[in-house]
Amino acid sequence: MTMQSAAPRAKRILMVGAPGAGKGTQADAIAKQFGITHIASGDILRRHIAEATTIGRTVEDLVNKGELVPDAVIMDMLRKPVLAAADTGGYVLDGFPRTVEQAEAAYRTAGNLGVGVQIAVHLEVPEEELIRRMLARARGADDTEDVIRHRIKVYEEKTRPLLEYYAQRELLVQVNGARPVAEVTWSIVVQLQRAFKRPATQAGSHAGAHAGTARPATTSDSDKAVA
Ligand code: AMP
Repeated sequence: MTMQSAAPRAKRILMVGAPGAGKGTQADAIAKQFGITHIASGDILRRHIAEATTIGRTVEDLVNKGELVPDAVIMDMLRKPVLAAADTGGYVLDGFPRTVEQAEAAYRTAGNLGVGVQIAVHLEVPEEELIRRMLARARGADDTEDVIRHRIKVYEEKTRPLLEYYAQRELLVQVNGARPVAEVTWSIVVQLQRAFKRPATQAGSHAGAHAGTARPATTSDSDKAVA
């Protein structure tokens, strides 16, 4: 673990939520609010598919079926933009990590990202609302009802365990995402501003958290916001 970094105060925010929870919309708003970079793994993959790159051809079938793409592809694809963003203030990552394995792999390569705060934001939205939203937007071949239901199942099985992972190690911000966009944004921004003011070890610094000296915390916008 190195403590040296070009950008020790980088803000590193991770959006966690089921497909359709509003991660992209909220990540955009957060990036603007804090002057950091929005990086969306799904958007990058869709661009590769549209341009029929080598990555695009490798992942197209998996993405269209709502399956996760292999970790190695995702890690290779994100390394450069994430490092660049970390050097220029930070990032809000939307769609990554998607599994505890990805979070662990990201942590192993994150030593040189320094000790800036890392905060996970969880957007909770009931399943029927997720399906309604995704059918309404129908963004790609993976937005049919069957595939949507499968993607939600994949989220529940593979991604939801991340919440426990982050609650133990970093700061986890819980947000009720089943509300108007601006209200959700406001709730996230207020909680993040509060979190950024905390001493580093409480706000989830990698160094502190993983050395066992941190006090991981969960904050929520409402007592009954999430199950
Ligand atoms: P999204 O736009 O984030 O819902 O992602 C769309 C699709 O891209 C997902 O259903 C997966 O097939 C793939 N994908 C995006 N991010 C990841 C990731 N971190 N790990 C594996 N697959 C991913």
